Amino acid sequence: MTFADVAGAEEAKEELQEVIDFLKNPARIQSLGGRMPKGVLLVGPPGTGKTLLARAVSGEAGAPFFSISGSEFIEMFVGVGAARVRELFEQARPKAPCIIFIDELDAVGGARGVAPALGGHDEREQTLNQLLAEMDGFDPSTGVVVMAATNRPEILDKALLRAGRFDRQIVVDKPDLEARTAILRLHTRQVKVGSDVDLRVVAQRTPGFVGADLANIANEAAIRAVRHDHAAVTMADFEEAIDRVIAGPEKKHRVLDVAEKRRIAFHESGHTLVALTVPTGEPVHKVSIIPRGVAALGYTLQLPVAEKFLSTQAELKDQLAILLGGRVAEELALGDVSSGAHNDLEHASEIARSMVTQLGMNDKLGPLTFGRRRQLAFLGVAGDEERNYSEDTARLIDGEVRALIEEGQQRARDILSAPRPALDALAARLQEREVMDRDEVERLVREQEQAQPGPAGAP
Ligand code: ADP
Ligand code: MG
Ligand code: ZN
Repeated sequence: MTFADVAGAEEAKEELQEVIDFLKNPARIQSLGGRMPKGVLLVGPPGTGKTLLARAVSGEAGAPFFSISGSEFIEMFVGVGAARVRELFEQARPKAPCIIFIDELDAVGGARGVAPALGGHDEREQTLNQLLAEMDGFDPSTGVVVMAATNRPEILDKALLRAGRFDRQIVVDKPDLEARTAILRLHTRQVKVGSDVDLRVVAQRTPGFVGADLANIANEAAIRAVRHDHAAVTMADFEEAIDRVIAGPEKKHRVLDVAEKRRIAFHESGHTLVALTVPTGEPVHKVSIIPRGVAALGYTLQLPVAEKFLSTQAELKDQLAILLGGRVAEELALGDVSSGAHNDLEHASEIARSMVTQLGMNDKLGPLTFGRRRQLAFLGVAGDEERNYSEDTARLIDGEVRALIEEGQQRARDILSAPRPALDALAARLQEREVMDRDEVERLVREQEQAQPGPAGAP
């Protein structure tokens, strides 16, 4: 298994190249003063090729591969999981340079002590503690690299992500149109494909599908061709295979119709443009309208410039405008809003309420906290609230929270209606490309600004 067996995933491959270079010659990287990777976490939805990539790294580097899956631990007796982890590291160490791969890390690596009441997490905790101890106990210069994969990074115990453990994270995202075409091409290498088949059209019909689904489609299409005695796999075979996978037993895919795609493109463009415009907006790393799951249809990924522990009032207000930007863009461009903004509203309401009741960022209520909460929901764990204030205060709080949200909405409206062509242009490009990275977005916005004499602040 090598990178030739993995189509698309270019960013992930690029980042993994470093690990390969290291495994090929650990001493050299060290003598050059390079940082040695110790723990590399592959993060992404199921079926995107994380396991495949880990195996390919081992193949590319010619390094032995020792693997174990978190799910194997689930029903083990207390102590067995921890012993298994110890054994795995013991086996691997003499074979260095090598890779230890822990698939489905979340099955063992979920936060400790979250639901002790549900009983019997002792085993998982012991396994996790053993893993942490093993990772701390080896010197990366020996050439052992621990890789892991998860599709639920948010539930991982924070201790796993600390420096010296899985401190390098690589996102393996759902494939875009180009990547889907490449994956289909790869999985039809051994198949006789008819001249009427255009794999790009198959890729166009399958936004949101991951590599595993596309491999499945190629396989189904070939099976159907055999059943129908076709000399080669036809487009009709592919069409039916797509329908089968869409309607499949799990019904996990929603295929977006054109109107929905347009709406999501405007929604995400709204978030993006507001984020680019407000003073403290983080750079938009990537914007996508490829459906990710049930809750999120598209997403706009912002990356903080530096790791941050504090948020100022100005930053939180900007965040509100960014969150409301999606809904406002839908309203401006399409005349009404949709249920797609539900998560944004929930998130925005949490921030606004925290600003008023927890962070003392409101003049009328002053620097007091209202209600006792274990932790601020938008910073991590949601806490239950215990009310310790009067009805009148409650009414005042509601009014101020509402005012903050309305202010954010108005700011988003001002930003998005000033350079409307930018919103239209970005949404159009996004419908066509499905995913845009930071450079593409910034280039497009700059072009729009040059074409359009600056609206804001222009005399
Ligand atoms: P994950 O570990 O992310 O759930 P896997 O690596 O198990 O996904 O992928 C399952 C199968 O899907 C692979 O064996 C391969 O056939 C196919 N697949 C997934 N992603 C790709 C890709 N990028 N290129 C080629 N095949 C892929
Ligand atoms: Mg896997
Ligand atoms: Zn949104």
